[in-house]
Amino acid sequence: MNFYELLTRAGKGEFLQSSEISQLLQVPDEAAEKALFAAAYGVKREFCGNYVNLRGLVEFSNICTRDCLYCGIRKSVRSVSRYCMSADEIVAAARRAGEFGYGSVVLQSGERSDPEFTGFVTEILQKISALPYALGITLSCGEQSMETYLRWREAGATRYLLRIESSDPAIFARIHPPECRFEERLAALHRLKEADYQLGTGVMIGLPGQSCEDLAKDICFFRELDVDMIGMGPYLPQNETPLGRDFPDAPGAAEKRLQLALRMIAATRLVLRDVNIAAATALQAIAPDSGRERGILAGANVIMPNVGETLHRRDYQLYNGKPDLDENAPAVREKLLTSLAAIGEVPRFNEPGDPLHYAIRTGRK
Ligand code: SAH
Repeated sequence: MNFYELLTRAGKGEFLQSSEISQLLQVPDEAAEKALFAAAYGVKREFCGNYVNLRGLVEFSNICTRDCLYCGIRKSVRSVSRYCMSADEIVAAARRAGEFGYGSVVLQSGERSDPEFTGFVTEILQKISALPYALGITLSCGEQSMETYLRWREAGATRYLLRIESSDPAIFARIHPPECRFEERLAALHRLKEADYQLGTGVMIGLPGQSCEDLAKDICFFRELDVDMIGMGPYLPQNETPLGRDFPDAPGAAEKRLQLALRMIAATRLVLRDVNIAAATALQAIAPDSGRERGILAGANVIMPNVGETLHRRDYQLYNGKPDLDENAPAVREKLLTSLAAIGEVPRFNEPGDPLHYAIRTGRK
């Protein structure tokens, strides 16, 4: 079937096979790519209007027990100084998000599962839930036991973001140390769903050895897992990691990966329809002035501006080229509002911005 026929079917929400999704991702030329973005943006408008949901991001600790081969805060990187913000600092950042009207926060950290850490997160959740803003709270703290997920859910977390990184077990194994197991990651995603979180997952796009077929299968994986939210972005080599060292970027590689990531956002919007899709910060790392905006125009509906203090930002560089290292939260907000207005999108202030998909999936709508 030709590309445009396929795109028309996708636009109407017809079921696409993995090979067909792969064909969409491999757009034949620039005009086709534009048509793909326009179709996906149309579906975004249908389900989310011209609204963008905002999540204030708090990168509260870079202490990590894992050694993922791509990640700039993996435990064996010695050049970052390790920190964990205090409960007061984290709550202050959440309060700032509330005052800014962001409607929700994302608490992200390196992975730890010791009782001191899990108890600390419980305490923060209770404190943030008690703030007078009705914030949605997303956690992004890696694989945990059912007991921990349930405790955090009870303490006020409503969403959880745990990327599968790649739904292909062979790729997953290539980018993780042996103790980090694909089956375990999958089991953790199922636990989160059972614990009644709004479930988010995602992948890195443009990993060494990853094809459009692989990415199409990732989208099928999202569909089968029936997730509510997608957070995915271009893979960016980090020069102090094994993967970054072994596969340094050729000139122009980053820009190509950005395009691929935008096509991936578009294809995901066409297939999943009513989910929340984040325009990841990694898009902005490649194109500082337009990455996230291009993400929205390709079908994303969520942006996660940083609300933490700039103090620790240098020590939370998952990849090279992280944007806004010195920009404080009000400055980040100003820039964002201006750039959204320029593309005719409106921030949805003071609303948690729950994904429609979750309400439908759980029969609450
Ligand atoms: N430890 C938590 C959250 C921190 S990492 C967890 O594992 O869930 C958050 C995400 O950053 C990861 O899921 C990964 O997809 C992304 N990431 C890490 N290193 C990256 C890199 N070099 N390029 C692009 N994304 C990266």
